[in-house]
Order: sequence, then C-alpha cells, then structure tokens
Amino acid sequence: MDALACLPHRGWRVVSRHSQKRASMRGCSRLWIQSTAARQSLTIDTSPSGQQVLLFTEFIRGTPMRGSEMTEGKHENRCPLSAVDRRLGDVHRHWHEAERGYFDPESFRISIQTTIQTLRTVTFILQNNKRLFTDFDPWYESWQDRLRAEPLMRWMVDARNKIEKQGDLEAHSFVRAEIMASYYEEGPRMEVPAELFQSPAELINGISTEALRKHVFKDGILRIQRRWVENSLPDYELLDAVGIAYGKVAELVADAHRQLGLEPPSTMVGDIDRTEGEGSRGGRLPCMIGHGDARSHDVWIATGQPMAIESRAIKFDRESAEQAATKYGLDPKGIFPSTDPAPEATLNGLFATARKMFSVDGHHDTIAFLLKGARPVNLRQLALQEHGEKYLVMRMLANEVIKYGADGVIILSEIWSARYDSSNPYRRAADAPEREEFLSAILVTKTGIPVQQLALIMRDGDGVTLGETQTLRDQPQIAFAPIYAAWGRAIPNAWFEATTMGARDASSGEGTTTSV
Ligand SMILES: [Zn+2]
Ligand SMILES: [Zn+2]
Repeated sequence: MDALACLPHRGWRVVSRHSQKRASMRGCSRLWIQSTAARQSLTIDTSPSGQQVLLFTEFIRGTPMRGSEMTEGKHENRCPLSAVDRRLGDVHRHWHEAERGYFDPESFRISIQTTIQTLRTVTFILQNNKRLFTDFDPWYESWQDRLRAEPLMRWMVDARNKIEKQGDLEAHSFVRAEIMASYYEEGPRMEVPAELFQSPAELINGISTEALRKHVFKDGILRIQRRWVENSLPDYELLDAVGIAYGKVAELVADAHRQLGLEPPSTMVGDIDRTEGEGSRGGRLPCMIGHGDARSHDVWIATGQPMAIESRAIKFDRESAEQAATKYGLDPKGIFPSTDPAPEATLNGLFATARKMFSVDGHHDTIAFLLKGARPVNLRQLALQEHGEKYLVMRMLANEVIKYGADGVIILSEIWSARYDSSNPYRRAADAPEREEFLSAILVTKTGIPVQQLALIMRDGDGVTLGETQTLRDQPQIAFAPIYAAWGRAIPNAWFEATTMGARDASSGEGTTTSV
C-alpha cells in the first residue's frame, strides 16, 4: 500500500441540528431530509434529484484530472525508498491515533510522543539509504539547512531528544472559547486551562456595543475547542504542530524520490488522487487540515443549540446527470470553455448554465466550485439555513481551498440585496422591507479582483423571469474573507469599510446589507 494513502475518514456531509424547520420550509424537493432522531440531526442528501449539482459534477468529471499513473501496489513494489515511505506512513497512522485519543490524556500523551519519535526516524532511514543516490551529501545538507532554519523543526528535534532521554513533554490541555459573528478572525476569544473552564458568559459580557451584542445574540456562534499546548511551544496546538512537521518531512521524502528520478508517492483519498494540492498544504495530507473543526463544539448563541455543519462531496451518478442535461436542454461538454484559460470564462459559462437551470426550476441551489486556473476541480453544495452558519461554512470552505490547492472559487446562489440602513446597521437584506432577489455568481481568485454576475429575479405568481445579466467588478465580497486568509492574501480595506457601510453579501441565499 502506498505509504501516503489516506482513508476518506473526513467525508463531507451536511448536518444541521437546529434548523429542520427552515430546511423543510424551503420545500426543496431536491433535498432528502432525514432526521436522525437519536442525534437530533438532519442529514441532507442530494438524491434523487439534486440535478443541478449532478449536472455540474458531470462537467467537472469531464475535465482532465491529474492521472495517478502509479498504483499503490506498483509504487511500493518498485520503489527503492519503500522503507522511507513506509515509515512516513507510520507517522501518519500515529498522528491519527493522537487525534482519536485527544480527549483521553494518557492515550494522547503516548501517541503524540510516538508520532514525534517516529517522524525523526524517517530521516535516519533516508540517511541509511544514501548509497542509492549519486550525490547524497550536498542535496541532504541543503535540506538540513532548510529544516534547521525553521524553529518548529528545531523544536521537534529537541522534543524527540527530551522524550527519549528525559521523560514526557509538558503538554497541557486548554479550552479555547471564541465567538464567531463575522467572516473575520476578530471575535472575542479566551483560552483557559481546561480544569478552570467555567462558562463562556464572560466572553459575551465583554462585548461593548449594544448593536453588536444584539447581532451576536441573533447570529453569533460560540465555538469551544479543546487544545493541547506544550509549555515550550505556546503558539501552536500540538497536534497541528506535528502535522506541519509531518508536511515538511513529507516534502523531503518527495524530493528524495525526484533525486532518484522517481515519481513521488501520490496522495490518495479513497480512490481519488489528491496529490495536486500538496504545495498549498505544505506537504501535509488533506486529513491534517482543519482537524480542529472535528473536536470543536459549536453552539448557536440565539438558541443554545449545538451546531454541526459539514458539507458533502457529491457522488457522481451519470444516469441522473444525463437526465438533468436533457431536462435543462444543456450539453455537458459545451459548458466549460476548454480553450479559454481565464477563470472568468468559467464564471461566464457557469452563470449562463445557472440561468437556464433557474428558468426551468424557479430556484437555484447554493453551489461552490473550487478552481485551478479556469478548471473546476471540485464542487460543494452548501446548505445554509441560518445566517450564522455562513461564518462556519465559509471557514470550512477555506480549509477545502487549502486541501485542494485551489486558486479560485465560484459560488452560485440566490441572494437578497437591500439598501443599507444606518439606523439598523446589523440588519440582513433578507429582513429588509424593500429587498430584491438576484441570481448571483461570484468569482474570487488568489491574485485577481472579485467578479460577480447578477440577474434580477422577478416573481409573478408562479412564474419567474430573470433580468439581464450585469457584471460587477471589485465589489467587497466579505464572505470570502476566510478564503483570502487561506491564500495569505490581505483583506482589502474596502471590505472592512463595507462591513459598516453596507454591501451585498452573497455566499448563500441570504444576502445582507451588512455582514458583521
Ligand atoms: Zn489521514
Ligand atoms: Zn516511494
């Protein structure tokens, strides 16, 4: 088995525990909603007629993906570095043991220490294979210099020495409580030793203005997260730190393969090749990104109810996709302009398609596309029932951007838009008396300006028509702030200003005049 293969243990599902009413109220025949009584959760599935989504899936499947030439078995059989690959695979396995044992101090202590020790042995085994290389020393020394220059990697070496010669790491468990009531990382946050954690009421009491406090109570999410932190590494959550270190060593191992003229091991999630996003993940495996979400407890402040949102990867079903293509009168092969390398061409193609689907269905799902250049590499259906969920969902989407190494994102949705009312600064557009409804597609990219296409939705009894398509450039797309952050891109000042000046906020069916 390929040392880097990873089971799809983080599959996407849409689960919402608090808003069954809203979901079924929208009456989407295309969503199957099953209530899991025991967990009081909703599972939103896209069958049988998630046709819009299926059709787009067909398009994406039709675009070329990086082929995994080397099967896992083949890589293993003929790879002279298989001892190194295998040991790196052991690190991955131990890392998951630490993740699983996170809430059991003993098992976390043992497995995280084992992970750190095992990680160190990967380079020892590599050094023992130096005879395979024609010019090992200068190549390896340049890597050593590079890794020694990183404080985190020096810490890993010291930590391993400490574990083997002195005793345990001094890891402490903390609870971080944080309020998320915007797309920016600005919420009040506190971190206290787990045994001292009482209640988050303090946090909420610390909010200064009345208007913001009201907003937080209506739309805010309280996130409570357990974190292990080591005394001498205070800026990192320990499991995350080890994941980052794994990534650096994995990059070294990949480069060792290239030195020998070999194809580096591919990253498989299930049977899908996910090697492509490796650079943006810093060599980490997709499962090592956003792992904190899984052990966060998110509470919707308005109701005190727990929230759990996961997106769902759409399963391909050719037959249904073909039916959908017929229904909308579309040719799956003719939608994405394969010759135009600009992501805006993809935006145009998608919006034209969305208009056709909307005209047939009278509604449009909220769908996010991850792009590499102009080419969609993945899509997610986002099921958003409450405003506050968007804060979480956009952060999760940002993690997917890192996992896939995406450099563009398009979100297709219906939005509300309304004039900003300074006497009511936190009001959503959806709640405004004079609001307008649009079909919208927003493109953001790693380096370009945001582009949005819009068409006014005019409803007349049961009938529905769309206005002309208009294109807007460089609008503040506040909801995409977490994605800009994932790209290491500064949030434009205009976006912060728009937070108080009022702007369309269009990542879901609920636009807002302001989106703190
Ligand atoms: Zn994994
Ligand atoms: Zn190998």
